[in-house]
Amino acid sequence: MEQPVIALVGRPNVGKSTLFNRLTRTRDALVADFPGLTRDRQYGVGRLGPAPYVVVDTGGLGEPDDVTYHHMQRQALRALDEADVILFLVDARVGVTPGDEALTRDLRRRGKRVWLVMNKIDGVDADVAGAEFHSLGMDSPWPIAAVQGRGVTQLIGAVLEDCLGAAWAAPASADPADADPDADAEAPDEPDAPIDVAIIGRPNVGKSTLVNRLIGEERVLVYDMPGTTRDSIRVPFERDGRAFTLIDTAGVRRRSRVSDGVEKFSVIKTLQAIEAAQVVIMVLDAQQEISEQDAHLIGHAINAGRGLVLAVNKWDGLIAENRERIRRELDVKLGFLDFTRPRFISALHGTGVGRLLEEVAHVHAAARRELPTPALNRVLEDAISAHQPPLVRGRRIKLRYAHQGGRNPPTIVVHGNQTRDLPDAYRRFLINRFRKAFQLHGTPIRLELRTGE
Ligand code: GDP
Ligand code: GDP
Repeated sequence: MEQPVIALVGRPNVGKSTLFNRLTRTRDALVADFPGLTRDRQYGVGRLGPAPYVVVDTGGLGEPDDVTYHHMQRQALRALDEADVILFLVDARVGVTPGDEALTRDLRRRGKRVWLVMNKIDGVDADVAGAEFHSLGMDSPWPIAAVQGRGVTQLIGAVLEDCLGAAWAAPASADPADADPDADAEAPDEPDAPIDVAIIGRPNVGKSTLVNRLIGEERVLVYDMPGTTRDSIRVPFERDGRAFTLIDTAGVRRRSRVSDGVEKFSVIKTLQAIEAAQVVIMVLDAQQEISEQDAHLIGHAINAGRGLVLAVNKWDGLIAENRERIRRELDVKLGFLDFTRPRFISALHGTGVGRLLEEVAHVHAAARRELPTPALNRVLEDAISAHQPPLVRGRRIKLRYAHQGGRNPPTIVVHGNQTRDLPDAYRRFLINRFRKAFQLHGTPIRLELRTGE
C-alpha cells in the first residue's frame, strides 16, 4: 500500500507551514526546485500519527486581489492533482475572508475530498468561531491549534482512517503519536528474501537507463501501462543469484512516454519509494555538479533510516580531470565518504552495475546486523577511554553501558547520566566508532541516549 498523500492548502498565515512542521517533525522538507515546479511547495513524510503519509504544503496562495493570485493559484492547485486528501486550513481568529471563499470555489471544482480545518483555536471559543465557517457550505470544521499540536493527532487519525479504510489498523497504543512509524521495517529475518530497492535522483541522471539495465527493456514496457499511476509497482529481478525488488519511481514507467519536466520528476513518488524501500540507490550524474537538491534527497533517505548506495553514473567518457573533480565534490558537498562508498558506473554500458548491486546487498546486511551487547560495550569503553565525554556544570557526563535497541536501521541505546547534555560532536564521534567497529557502511545509525538505570 502506498502512503496516502495529504495536501495542505489555505491563505497565507493560516498556519500551513506550522502544521507541516508538526506533522513531518523534520527540518529537511524537500523543496522542488526544478524548472516547471513552484519553489515554495514543500514535501515531507508525516511521522505524527499511526502510519506514514506524504505531506505537501502547497504554499503560494494569495488574496484574490493580488496580481499574482491567479498564476500562483494555478500552480498550487496543480499540486492537488497528486493528493488523496486535501486539508483546507482557515484561521479561527480571522474568520471567513474573500480568499477563503475563492479557494472554496476552486476546490469544489476539483471534485476532491476536502477537509475543512480551523486552526488557531487556542484562546478562542471553537464553537463560536466554527459557526462562522458554515457559510462556506462545507462540513463543520475540524478545530486544531497547530502551534501546540492540539487536535492534530485526532485529525490525522481520522483522515488516514477515511482514506485507507480497512487497510488502516487502529494503533494499540492509546496515543497514536507513540506508534513507531518504522515498526514494519523489522520484518522477520529471511536471509534470501528479496531486497527492496528504490532508485532515486534528479531528472536525466540516468535512472531509467539503469532500470533498463537491471530489468530489461521489455519488462519496463510491460509495466508502462496507463491507468496504473496510483498503484505501487514492484518489479522483481535477479542478479548473480540474489533477489531484488525494484520499487517503482517516476523513472520506471517513463521510457516510452514523451518526457516533459514536470512529468519526469515527482517528489511524491520519490518520497513514497524511499519509504517503501530497504535500500535506496541515489543516482548522481558525473557530468554535472552535485546540487543542493541531491544533498536534500540523500539527507531525506538517511533521515528515513534507509540504507544508501551512491551511484555516480555516466562515468564513461569522463576525462581524468573530471573524475578528480567529482571525487572532490563528493567529499566537500556531501561529506559522506566515510558513511558510504560511492560506486562509479555507466548505466549505458553496464559497467560497474554488478558491483553496485553487491553494495546494495552489503548495505542491506549491515542495516540488519546483530550487535552483541558485550562487543557494543567494548566499543563504548574504548571510545570513552580514547576521548572522555565533557564536563557539564562541573560534572562529567557518564556513559555506562550500551545495547542494541533495534535493527534496520541499527539502533544503539546508551545508558548513562546527564546524557541530554551530550554534545552533538560527541554523538557523532560515538556513531563513527560504532560504524567502524561493526562495519556499518551505508546505513544510518540511530543513537538513543537514556539517563538513569
Ligand atoms: P502559512 O503562511 O499558512 O504557512 O502560516 P504559518 O505556519 O507561517 O503561520 C503563520 C503565523 O500563525 C505564525 O506566526 C504562526 O506562529 C501562527 N500560528 C500557526 N498556528 C497557530 C496556532 O495554532 N495558534 C496560534 N495562536 N498561532 C498559530
Ligand atoms: P532519468 O531521467 O534519470 O531516468 O535519465 P535517463 O535514463 O532518461 O537518461 C538521461 C540521458 O542520459 C539519456 O540521454 C541517457 O542515454 C543518458 N545516459 C544515461 N546513463 C548514461 C551513462 O552511463 N553514460 C552516458 N554517457 N549517458 C547516459
